[in-house]
Amino acid sequence: MATPTKSCRVLVVRKTKLRETDLIIAFLHEDGSLGQAVARGARKPGNTFASRLEYFCLADVLIAKGRGLPIVTEARCVNAHARLREDVLFNAASSPILDALAKCGQPDLPVPRLFDMACAALDELRSCQEDDAPAICAAFLVKLFAMLGFRPRVSTCVSCGAQVPLEHGAWRDFSFVEGGAVCVDCRSHVQTQRIEATTLLWVQTLLGQPFAHVRESHVPLQASFAVLHFAHQWFREHMGLNLKSLNFLLTSGLF
Ligand SMILES: [Zn+2]
Repeated sequence: MATPTKSCRVLVVRKTKLRETDLIIAFLHEDGSLGQAVARGARKPGNTFASRLEYFCLADVLIAKGRGLPIVTEARCVNAHARLREDVLFNAASSPILDALAKCGQPDLPVPRLFDMACAALDELRSCQEDDAPAICAAFLVKLFAMLGFRPRVSTCVSCGAQVPLEHGAWRDFSFVEGGAVCVDCRSHVQTQRIEATTLLWVQTLLGQPFAHVRESHVPLQASFAVLHFAHQWFREHMGLNLKSLNFLLTSGLF
């Protein structure tokens, strides 16, 4: 009896060594769920899977059900996103996107529009200027929070719902654990930290803008990094996740 196979388009987000010559490829499906499959021989030099199933590759694959993990039987690269692997700066600015997808995605749990959003962000990173890359990464991460149901509340109090005015230059009370800004009346009973209102305004802006708009508006690096720091803390304290690649981007001094 023939082994059942299925054809699907995937985005490669992680590779794990398996035995001497094989890899386990983790990928995002078009429905936004996470999957994984074994690519046999993918660690052998010159193996066709090696180049078609690289990090950041958008690929059409044929997957056969195995007794254990499914097996990739064919792969065709649709978009290699080569710049995001080969250029150190772009790699640093793009890797948190894959890292976040690998950590936040769930098997058999579709997230509508996640795949399209990831592809849109990577496409902008493929063609943008160096200094715009951190802004696109930051925009992806805050949009991801919203898409997964962890949207930060930046302009209303998480405790009572009152409006929290945001003016450039001001400082506001914020609770990463509770998930947003805290008004002056509530700050005595919520654990908060001070955060620049400008950072919250940038979070709000990047949440609402399409990636092409983010690229064209040339967000100042300082603002991009303020939002990346915000995202790093949000991952840790609100979602209990540590993204090593984001930590690297924040501490490497590449930008
Ligand atoms: Zn309040």
